[in-house]
Amino acid sequence: MKPTYDFSWMCCLVVDDNQSVSEYLAAMLVEEIGVRQAYVAHSANDALALLDQNPQIHVVLCDLYMDQVDGLEMIRLLKERQFRGYFGIISSMAAKVIHSAEQLAKIHQINLLGSIPKPISQSSVEELLSRVGGKPKDKPHSRPETPLKIYELIRGIEKHQFEVFYQPQVDIISRRVIGVEALTRLKHPRHGLIYPHRFIPAMEKTSLISDLTLFVLDHAMRDWQHWANDGVSLQVSVNISPVELNNLDFPEYVLQRLKQFSMPAEQLTLEVTESAIEADASHTLEILNRLSMHGIQLSIDDFGTGHSSIERLRKYPFDELKIDKDFMANAQRSQSERTLVESSVGLAKRLGLKVVFEGIESADLYQMSDHLGGDIIQGFYISRALRADDLLGWIDNWRASNR
Ligand code: C2E
Ligand code: MG
Ligand code: MG
Repeated sequence: MKPTYDFSWMCCLVVDDNQSVSEYLAAMLVEEIGVRQAYVAHSANDALALLDQNPQIHVVLCDLYMDQVDGLEMIRLLKERQFRGYFGIISSMAAKVIHSAEQLAKIHQINLLGSIPKPISQSSVEELLSRVGGKPKDKPHSRPETPLKIYELIRGIEKHQFEVFYQPQVDIISRRVIGVEALTRLKHPRHGLIYPHRFIPAMEKTSLISDLTLFVLDHAMRDWQHWANDGVSLQVSVNISPVELNNLDFPEYVLQRLKQFSMPAEQLTLEVTESAIEADASHTLEILNRLSMHGIQLSIDDFGTGHSSIERLRKYPFDELKIDKDFMANAQRSQSERTLVESSVGLAKRLGLKVVFEGIESADLYQMSDHLGGDIIQGFYISRALRADDLLGWIDNWRASNR
């Protein structure tokens, strides 16, 4: 059978202590499905050693039930080593057990693809791998996903290699473009465009993240001013890191910049990930309140990836809730997850929060979001993040085809 997707860029690792199962799956991956390489490990220790030696491994497919270290422990070990690839479960166990493994992966923020039932079929493996995303040409990049080194990041700042892209956000009902989210990429002299998962976590470990935040804020406000001068008024969202939630000088900096660019505070949204809010409560509360007092909009990003409840986030002055793309994708696959999203939306609305759905990448997801009662959508189905120069042209086209 010919695969619908082109997986020739993908490197997989199969972890199963049953040799015949793992060899069978590895052969299927390479010979039938066409992945570039499939490594085999019969124990978690072997798997970790292979991951060390082969940072290009994108996907780990792991048996849940193994003799020594089982799949659950493997999930924890991957979390400890900050594995940034994708994880799939192979199992003949009951749905309940698989579901709790899935919950564990979610808590550990492992990119879980789902599970393949045993006996393994080619179509179930292909379906699972297709969740990684489109064909290689649609992928951000297909080279090793290793984090950048600190010196590369310092050089990136010094040599102005960072560039801010903007992903449009659209009102679900009117289909009007109401805003954009600023998303940063690094233009590497040899490797081309590099996406944030390879530099943000490393930058967050040093003060470099503050340099980046200030750079992005400046760019976003300057671009906002250009668009406003062209008669296009847009809400601009900027992601800020946990470091800013601990820096009491940050609000003053933002206010000064807004003044410099004559940007109304209400047109700037600062996004804070759900997990960052747990960091340092007293400073965070003061900083967020000060920003909010001046009219800056505050958004909870990636909601659904952590374990906070909306009630717990209530003490902070948030205006918006962004439902994470994985949460949305899961809602499409499972009724129970869908109910969770529905109740989060309902509660957010009752608390007066605007709701943004992230990761709307297909017509099906678009339709689902239409029924879930949110306000704004963002995702590849509308548009990928665009260069600042391309945005107004894109908006013109969008308006023309959505009249
Ligand atoms: P985020 O803030 O949740 O941004 C949304 C991410 O989802 C973006 O990834 C975007 O390209 C991606 N995305 C949008 N629509 C879709 C879709 O339909 N399907 C899929 N699969 N993905 C979609 P990106 O640009 O790679 O950024 C990843 C994360 O990096 C961001 O997640 C944000 O947390 C962080 N980030 C990006 N730029 C900055 C920055 O300047 N500063 C900070 N502190 N973090 C940043
Ligand atoms: Mg964001
Ligand atoms: Mg998000």
